[in-house]
Amino acid sequence: MKAALLKPKSESRDGKHIVKSRIGIEGDCVYVEDFLDQVDRGEIPEVDAIIIDEAQFLTREQVDKFSDLVDFHNIPVLCYGLRTDFQGNAFPGSARLLELADQIVETSTVCWCGRKARFNARVMDGKIVREGEQVQLGGNESYTSLCRKHFKEGKVFKDT
Ligand SMILES: [Zn+2]
Repeated sequence: MKAALLKPKSESRDGKHIVKSRIGIEGDCVYVEDFLDQVDRGEIPEVDAIIIDEAQFLTREQVDKFSDLVDFHNIPVLCYGLRTDFQGNAFPGSARLLELADQIVETSTVCWCGRKARFNARVMDGKIVREGEQVQLGGNESYTSLCRKHFKEGKVFKDT
């Protein structure tokens, strides 16, 4: 099967035009913006599936366009991304995906306490960061997965 591998232009941590997985596999990708420009010109790519990484950075409009590819061109679209940002608010693109998706599969991550981690805390110098832009790339911050309770408490590690 031939799949198109895409990611939004705003996501540039992996370097240009590459999608990397945590197990080390990587592949060339095209930017969502360039792909949809092509679709807007009426050139529907001949692919069996579309795979989108970092889908939380999609806009609501882009998600709508991908749903059109599913409905009117029968191309399955698989999106991978985060539900919520570092403040626990849904990314606009993720919210739209939750509204439109035919199927949602939640990948479970575990907090340091063992509970299901559904929140992504932004961490700087070992402390949780509550304020800032939703998308902040290239800074010194990192992200850690926490359960709701420890996200609320700001307990990033067992001993903090
Ligand atoms: Zn916890």
